[in-house]
Amino acid sequence: MAEEFEPALMRAQAFDGEKLAEGIVDWVGMETPSDRPDLIDRILDRVERTFDGLPVEIQRLPARDGCGGQMVIDYRPAGCDGDAALLMGHVDTVWSAGTLAQRPVRREGDRLYGPGIFDMKAGSYLATETLRRIARQGIVPPRPVRVFLNGDEEIGSPVSRGTIERLAGEAAFVLVPEPSYGAPGTVVTARKGWARFDLTAHGLSAHAGGNRDDGRSAIREIAHQILDIEAMNDSERTATFNVGTVHGGTRANVVPDKAGIEVDMRVDDMATAERLVAAMLARRAVDRDIRLEVDGGLNRPPFVRSPAVVRLYSAARALAAHLGLPIGETSRGGVSDGNFAAANGRPVLDGLGCGGGGAHAIDEHILVSTIAPRAALLHAMLTSRHFQSLATD
Ligand SMILES: [Zn+2]
Repeated sequence: MAEEFEPALMRAQAFDGEKLAEGIVDWVGMETPSDRPDLIDRILDRVERTFDGLPVEIQRLPARDGCGGQMVIDYRPAGCDGDAALLMGHVDTVWSAGTLAQRPVRREGDRLYGPGIFDMKAGSYLATETLRRIARQGIVPPRPVRVFLNGDEEIGSPVSRGTIERLAGEAAFVLVPEPSYGAPGTVVTARKGWARFDLTAHGLSAHAGGNRDDGRSAIREIAHQILDIEAMNDSERTATFNVGTVHGGTRANVVPDKAGIEVDMRVDDMATAERLVAAMLARRAVDRDIRLEVDGGLNRPPFVRSPAVVRLYSAARALAAHLGLPIGETSRGGVSDGNFAAANGRPVLDGLGCGGGGAHAIDEHILVSTIAPRAALLHAMLTSRHFQSLATD
């Protein structure tokens, strides 16, 4: 009930969006492609320094296997207890070093353009800055606050995945400030799971004119596979398939001995994921003389709108209503680290970043008018005892 929210929360609305925008632009100014662990270290060093003298504990997990490092910031002053509220964001982007020189940050009205600003420098900055302010103001939150930043999300979080799963398992709830799509205030309460497969057909080459019958066309086999897999879009209700690339053959007058495809599969729930991954890996060639090789599997498990997610979202909605902030929910086909966090049953709320558009595209931007409301909501979720009891009891 609205009247149970702490009156002090209203002060959380005193965030200055223009001032926060400067901090976001500062982060965008430090380019952090996933394949440059050195640059990812540089932004993490910078973030670490902004906490100098504040009562937080910072843990760095060094870069390895070509993936950027990670950082965990813990704030647990005397007086707070229980499992932490976990904020989770990535600092890597899909943009190569040098992109900024081609496409510098620019402002057009409410739109602030820049590489990686929407996905998700703005959100990761707000998570970090909100914690920094709470620590600086000496606020004792009901639960400890933990911010996790990783540097390999855009390449599938191969190194950070284990840390994400562990931290999510230790958290009371998980907030992911990935981009917000749609009407102002929209958050994400479900994401599809994502699997990828490589299919390669191994046939037998022959002269197309001289001895065609001795050959076994790998392209013909792959054509069968493409149509069969695309047809699963009609028969499956909770999964979609996309044959995204096709390759094969050498010359028009050669029966092709090799051809292949790459397949993207999106799936709503784990039972469907397990069934269809098994079915994909068990695929056999239609032509008995051809060997079909299938590699791949589930990269991100589905983030399901579980009762725990619904409870967290309902609490956020009540809080937003109390603060006069817009909120709404949606589900997404695109994945995030929220998928890993949700897979073990934790309450997760994603899409808590700024509104905007153009993720992974040249028109990538955020809406400056969404910065302060998002900061206010994050701040209130971390500091309101009433919100946290609604979210987790
Ligand atoms: Zn992202």
